[in-house]
Amino acid sequence: MAEELDPFKIAQKQLDEAAEIMKLDKQAHAILREPQQTVVVNVPAKMRNGETKTFTGFRVLYNNARGPGKGGIRFHPQESLETVKALSAWMTWKCSLANIQFGGAKGGIICDPKKFSPAELENLSRSYIRCISKFIGPETDIPAPDVYTTPQIMSWMMDEYSRIKEHNVYGVITGKPLEVWGSEGRNDSTALGGMFVLREAAKLKKINLKKATIAVQGFGNAGHFAFSLASQLFGSKIVAITDSQGGVYSEKGLDLAKLDEAKKRTGSVDGYKGAQEVSNDELLELDVDILIPAAIENQIHKGNADKVKPKILLELANGPVTPEADRILAQNGIFDLPDFLVNSGGVIGSYFEWVQNQQGYYWTREEFDQKLDTIITKSFRDVMATQKEYSDKGRKINPRMAAYIIAVSRVAAAMKTRGWY
Ligand code: GLU
Repeated sequence: MAEELDPFKIAQKQLDEAAEIMKLDKQAHAILREPQQTVVVNVPAKMRNGETKTFTGFRVLYNNARGPGKGGIRFHPQESLETVKALSAWMTWKCSLANIQFGGAKGGIICDPKKFSPAELENLSRSYIRCISKFIGPETDIPAPDVYTTPQIMSWMMDEYSRIKEHNVYGVITGKPLEVWGSEGRNDSTALGGMFVLREAAKLKKINLKKATIAVQGFGNAGHFAFSLASQLFGSKIVAITDSQGGVYSEKGLDLAKLDEAKKRTGSVDGYKGAQEVSNDELLELDVDILIPAAIENQIHKGNADKVKPKILLELANGPVTPEADRILAQNGIFDLPDFLVNSGGVIGSYFEWVQNQQGYYWTREEFDQKLDTIITKSFRDVMATQKEYSDKGRKINPRMAAYIIAVSRVAAAMKTRGWY
């Protein structure tokens, strides 16, 4: 039978497994299997030839028992309601595990942003906000950047929402540029959070990061900063990187400035001179100490999981490992750290931005980084402790299940005390 790759079915399956292990109340389980609210909108946008084109957009609020909905907006040609639903569920678990005052949500538009002029991108972004303005707000649901959306797009969106409300509402969206009260540190907080998790994981596994080799899949915000931070903070050697077009490998280690230059010149990192070409699939199977998937879902699946053998698998992307691959990796003893722990630095940074916007009082970069470190290091330790607790009871679980158990039990407890079941 073909492997299940519908992201929402995968998210439900993961929840079902956690529910069974933690003996979750049936009523709570039923509530948590589906989003609370699904919004589908038709988004008209004026194109450069003067014609109006219509795009399909989504905004899904998965659960708000612990706080307003929170989660990014993706502009992607293969976007689908099922993907957005899955990502909104993962946002719920991510915010709960980090123990920040947010529920989970996600949005997206089916489009190919690479084909748009800046004006087209702005028109589409503003139109989307007009379509969903009833459903978002600093106390209800707060969007942010994700795949192919940027601080500039967040700024247009905040501006459009503020025009509708007839006053500035900075806290409606996070990941904004600093000029409109984004936060110091938010831009690279996904990758920085991942590095704090990597530091703790390496300590636990007694891996010397200074001598470690790293492969990164993806050259977007997360992958790019993961590259620079791993070399800056730990002195690790990044030997391979790919983007959606292709990639490069060099035993000696790659140079970030040269990668940026290659990307600018040819549109892909594979224009890098003096390194071997490597495909996305090949990168995942390289013999490296640390593998960092930092692109999109379903990259490690039944077909290649057996060949994925890093000492630490650091899931910086959302949903890079399918459930069948998850089982294979566990059988092979791979130390696989789950997405909603590893990449939670992004939304923790968003939480800091939102808190600052609500107060109108701003922190230094040092405060931001230090608070991020405290929160994410605690999450990592909570996950390890829960894994050990279950193993002591005779039930072996992987870090993903331990993270699920913590996250789901907090949401269920909030729903219970609010009287939802
Ligand atoms: N898009 C990021 C994520 O998947 C950040 C979301 C946010 O900051 O709201 O975690």
